[in-house]
Amino acid sequence: MEALKVPSEDITIAVGPGIGQCCLEVDAPVRDFFVGQGRQNQWEASVRDGRPGHWWLDLKIMARMQAVETGVNERRVDILPYCTRCDAEYFYSYRREGLAAGRQANYIVLKEREEGE
Ligand SMILES: [Zn+2]
Repeated sequence: MEALKVPSEDITIAVGPGIGQCCLEVDAPVRDFFVGQGRQNQWEASVRDGRPGHWWLDLKIMARMQAVETGVNERRVDILPYCTRCDAEYFYSYRREGLAAGRQANYIVLKEREEGE
């Protein structure tokens, strides 16, 4: 199968739902992973301090920055604000429910453009 070649500026990205910064405290090995990949700036823009040696990580900000880094227009990165751990009414969460957590699926539908769009 031949790969499609789509200019970065024509790509639209949707992120989430997923765990929010409110619920994702990480430790030094996670920081070291990102920094080791040369993502120090993204790390600093995506975290706030937690307990000593821990940080609250916003994966959605990190995803946006990585998309923009590849040439995607920042305005075309749509991030859903929901935190799957906080919002038990709508989402399953491994962090909240452990192994008994259900699974969720997401999908995107590509619509044909209508005249005038
Ligand atoms: Zn949360």
